[in-house]
Amino acid sequence: MPSFISRIAVGLSLASSACAAGAPGHSSVARPAGPEPVDYTVAFPDLSAHSATITARFPTSGKPTVDLMMAVWSPGYYKVENYADRVHDVAARSPSGAPLNVVHDARNHWRISTGGAAGVMVSYRVTADQRSVTTDWVGDSLIVLNGAPTFMAISNDAHRPAIVHLELPRGWRSATSLDTVRDAPSDSYRAADYDDAVDSPIIAGDNLRIDSFVVGGSRHAVVDAGSIDGWDSARAARDIARFVAEDRRFWGTLPYDHYVFLNVFRRGGGGLEHRNSTLLTSSAAAYSTPAGYVRWLDFVSHEYFHAMNVKRLRPVELGPFDYEAGPKTPSLWISEGLTTYYGDLMVVRSGLAPDSAFLSAMSALIGQLQMPPGRLVQTLSASSLDAWNSENSGVGMDQANTVSYYTKGTVAGFLLDARIRRLTGDRRSLDDVMRAAYALYSGARGFTPEQFQAVASRIAGSDLSAWFHRVLDTVDELDYSEALAWYGLRFADASTDGARRWRLEIRSDATPAQRAHLAALFAP
Ligand SMILES: [Zn+2]
Repeated sequence: MPSFISRIAVGLSLASSACAAGAPGHSSVARPAGPEPVDYTVAFPDLSAHSATITARFPTSGKPTVDLMMAVWSPGYYKVENYADRVHDVAARSPSGAPLNVVHDARNHWRISTGGAAGVMVSYRVTADQRSVTTDWVGDSLIVLNGAPTFMAISNDAHRPAIVHLELPRGWRSATSLDTVRDAPSDSYRAADYDDAVDSPIIAGDNLRIDSFVVGGSRHAVVDAGSIDGWDSARAARDIARFVAEDRRFWGTLPYDHYVFLNVFRRGGGGLEHRNSTLLTSSAAAYSTPAGYVRWLDFVSHEYFHAMNVKRLRPVELGPFDYEAGPKTPSLWISEGLTTYYGDLMVVRSGLAPDSAFLSAMSALIGQLQMPPGRLVQTLSASSLDAWNSENSGVGMDQANTVSYYTKGTVAGFLLDARIRRLTGDRRSLDDVMRAAYALYSGARGFTPEQFQAVASRIAGSDLSAWFHRVLDTVDELDYSEALAWYGLRFADASTDGARRWRLEIRSDATPAQRAHLAALFAP
């Protein structure tokens, strides 16, 4: 049995630079008692074929058959993706090499006859030619592996740990938030359980660029991969460290030992949050203009804020996960909308963008909400519950009949914050609501809508249930007047119909008190 260490698992060079930056030294921990791990070896015999071969040893616990399954979705990405459809050539054998019977008895299930062996070896190949943040990519200079499309698991056995060995081309390095395995070949990692394996993407390449920093005793790595020519990695890591420090001030602590930003420059798009990492798809637009760079910081800040809001503080429905049937929740406006609101605010509060950048971004969102008619058809809660059935932002969205919980959720956060600040004379804000909710609902159990609303009412010192009902559960127009009056803002040109109609600007006759309220919103 190998033993394990808890150091950050992004290759030797990072581990040494993290130590040089003053991180705590490595500590050895014995392998915890508990179920015997599944042992996966992932190989890439032909990079240009865009596939990976997986060989795994599954303990059988002495049973005559083992039921293996592939997830159908990935937490954070509310789409059925049926990863089993990209699995091929499933075969099983005993430890002595004798072939074992495999029955593909459901779209994402395989039943293996064990012949009484203590463990069975199962091999399969996965197609890895997709560039989304939930799928796998294997190419000539880059590999992106996500847990759900890569790892078969024993059904109803979520607490079993996993060991993952990567057989990479010579000279390549890998990066992930998983712990490394001591006394094992390089690129060997340990997942505490299946959730951890699914929640910890792995990237590898021949040109990974790794910067690290420490905030509040927690180690962070920014790993750039893909088409990184022209990208200023050191500057990006410095700027990320600034909003991470701002997030730490906001929450009072950072709830992890280490965190990894996996920043992949490639075609495609999007980012996905994980407990101890995020997988980002970035493009040249991030460095072609100053505004593009601020948008990139907002994007990374959003994914990072999720480490606290949704990966820990979460709606009650979002965990523990059923990987064969995704959950529905009415609360994605909190998990996504408020994450966008604070993602942008953290960038401004840490001095990386001017106040005007926040007002511009909020203006754009208000325009996106107010111009199409979908807001008059679908409520915010219904939008969240409908996440599995419809696009919630972007080109595929049915703007005539649906509303985005990202867009309306962010705008609702802006209005709720203003309301709490006004009700309390700026002594309390939505920040306090988030911290209070975190203290109550970031553990084993998440919050119900009623519980989150009760926290907000308590902080506001006023019953907000009528406000929540109107904003979440009716299609009534949002009322901007309170926020505009509190901050001394107005819409630039109420006489026109286009986006300009919804452009927020500071009133020239704003009072000193109003200016102070706005300054308080942006203050660290
Ligand atoms: Zn998000």
